[in-house]
Amino acid sequence: MAKAATDSPVAKEALAYCTSCKMDLAHTVVAMKGDRVAKVQCKTCKKEHAYKAPKGITEPTAEKPKAARKSKKAAAAEAAGNPIELEWEKLMNTHKANPFKSYNTKGNFTLGDKINHPTFGEGIVGRLIYPNKIEVIFRSELKVLIHGGAPTL
Ligand SMILES: [Zn+2]
Repeated sequence: MAKAATDSPVAKEALAYCTSCKMDLAHTVVAMKGDRVAKVQCKTCKKEHAYKAPKGITEPTAEKPKAARKSKKAAAAEAAGNPIELEWEKLMNTHKANPFKSYNTKGNFTLGDKINHPTFGEGIVGRLIYPNKIEVIFRSELKVLIHGGAPTL
């Protein structure tokens, strides 16, 4: 590309964030990288530093690390597995000696009971909800189910 010094005065000055003054200030452009400002000199403190987009403007490249961090976190959560599944595995292991009970709304279940549910599969009672509900941890989801036996009354 030809040097655009003659008829392109726009590249000479740029509003940038000064890392020393800690604010958006007019800077003299010292170096360009392609059509982007690479290095600037602060007109206020005279310091040369890498170009930083003014804080008032969100530069697309400035958003990149943030997005990357987010997706990395999501990937990490995925790698760690479904927390419910982990809990389910733990409980299944703890109560492996217990026999499975077929679930029906008239049944009477208690903490640690293993349930075979026609829709949700194998689950384990993790919580009793007074008076007639149980919270059951299935492999991929938590379900509150009705059961017939109230603990009291
Ligand atoms: Zn400055």
